[in-house]
Amino acid sequence: MDLSARLDPVLDVARATATQVDTEGSFPAQTVDALRHSGLFGLTLPPESGGLGGGPQDLVQVLGRLAALCGSAAMVYLMHLTATMAIASAPPASHPGLLKRLATDTLATLAFSEKGSRSHFWAPISRSRRENGKVTLDSAKSWVTSAGHAEVYVVSTLAPDEGIDVYVVFAGASGVEVSGPWRGLGLRGNASAPMRFQLPVADGDRIGEPGSGFALKLQAVMPWFNLGNAAVSLGLAQAALDASVTHTSGSSFQHTGEALADLPTIRAQLARAALDLETTRAYVEKAARSLAQPDESTMLHVLGVKAVANDMALRVTDVGMRVCGGAAFSEHLQVERFFRDARAGHVMAPTADVLYDFYGKAITGRELL
Ligand SMILES: Cc1cc2nc3c(=O)[nH]c(=O)nc-3n(C[C@H](O)[C@H](O)[C@H](O)COP(=O)(O)OP(=O)(O)OC[C@H]3O[C@@H](n4cnc5c(N)ncnc54)[C@H](O)[C@@H]3O)c2cc1C
Repeated sequence: MDLSARLDPVLDVARATATQVDTEGSFPAQTVDALRHSGLFGLTLPPESGGLGGGPQDLVQVLGRLAALCGSAAMVYLMHLTATMAIASAPPASHPGLLKRLATDTLATLAFSEKGSRSHFWAPISRSRRENGKVTLDSAKSWVTSAGHAEVYVVSTLAPDEGIDVYVVFAGASGVEVSGPWRGLGLRGNASAPMRFQLPVADGDRIGEPGSGFALKLQAVMPWFNLGNAAVSLGLAQAALDASVTHTSGSSFQHTGEALADLPTIRAQLARAALDLETTRAYVEKAARSLAQPDESTMLHVLGVKAVANDMALRVTDVGMRVCGGAAFSEHLQVERFFRDARAGHVMAPTADVLYDFYGKAITGRELL
């Protein structure tokens, strides 16, 4: 699929606004609007739902290129695509036109994490109540990307009886509120603030069968989120490496006439980082191919791809900080922004360390949970 005609205008906006988004910690509204108007909101939805019918490889390409310019916008977009695919896996009965809206103009996100279960997003603590046959959602969420900006929230809760339920909740409904501020070290524009959801929900708002939320999180959320998050890591690492090569090639010691890149130590650091990035990219592409044509190894790649790419992005952006020296602390190089943004992707659940544990369990024949 040739996505350039749709993506290039979005990248122009991201390029022009990313520094301001990061400096002010403001939501990347202009880039999100450009995505909305480009048709890319429906990147991975099938054409019959109003989408472009793109697959995992398209997701990697688009998110990687966007993240290289604006990590915050890329993560907002990834949360939208993941929420959209979760809804598409079992569309809630009361909202028949929702997928078409998500494909064209409606921003969605995931509200899973809770203070009590921390990064263990598969284990909500909040429990909805059933009174007189009606269910009331009562969930305090600790971090919700696009909080206060999304129009649709995909919210998880313990069911009144058994299992986990996942509901679609619309912004503007009474009982939906952003309950705190967001000031992050990285991805400073993605508005990942805490939220409170206290409102009645109906069967027709639920995604999937009663109590099926755990399977939904593992089968419909994790594959798209993990792959997309890995793609964001690739983009951030590529941008940090490019900026580092440019800076070290163009900055010289006047008293020796040498550029920084004339120093063998710096060249070797850059070489290791470039190869680290390229080997990880090859693995991310392999994981994307596996997701496009699933086989028995696909779940292993779902577990591995985010962890590997997150760690690579920490190493490569760290090299950027090192080889650019004191200049790396200055905002003009942007290396420090990519360094900070990469750290956020790493701790977004499932965290890289949780995924290594899961991967280890999978290859030694143990249950994940
Ligand atoms: C920028 C940003 C955006 C976010 N957006 C969203 C969002 O849109 N929706 C949402 O639901 N959540 C979101 N989150 C929350 C995120 O998914 C995690 O829940 C959160 O980062 C966990 O932080 P914590 O302090 O609770 O981690 P903790 O759970 O306290 O983890 C601390 C450390 O322990 C490690 N650890 C925990 N369990 C294990 C284990 N079993 N094995 C090995 N190591 C382990 C972790 O890897 C981590 O290194 C966001 C977070 C950030 C930073």
